[in-house]
Amino acid sequence: MSPPLLVLPPDPACNTSHATDHLSYTAGMAKKRRRRRVREMPQEASYVCDACGEEIVIPIDSTQGAEQSFVEDCPVCCRPNIVHLDIEPDGSARAWAEPE
Ligand SMILES: [Zn+2]
Repeated sequence: MSPPLLVLPPDPACNTSHATDHLSYTAGMAKKRRRRRVREMPQEASYVCDACGEEIVIPIDSTQGAEQSFVEDCPVCCRPNIVHLDIEPDGSARAWAEPE
């Protein structure tokens, strides 16, 4: 006679690790400006907030790629904008925003 199949209880560590992943992902999205010692050229771009029309200057982190988009809360009116950023090979950059 063979013993009955062993049924494993759900692994609590699995849920925990998913929750942790989600938390760190959210924290990463909320992270805003980070200063780097970029010496070659001061890299900034500006976009116009879609909600209030203010011009917002943002630092460019060129290590994140030539085409970037991220959500940033407007520092003036606190509405979220989806900010798009294009970095040209010559180092100039364009940024624009659209409502989330
Ligand atoms: Zn605004």
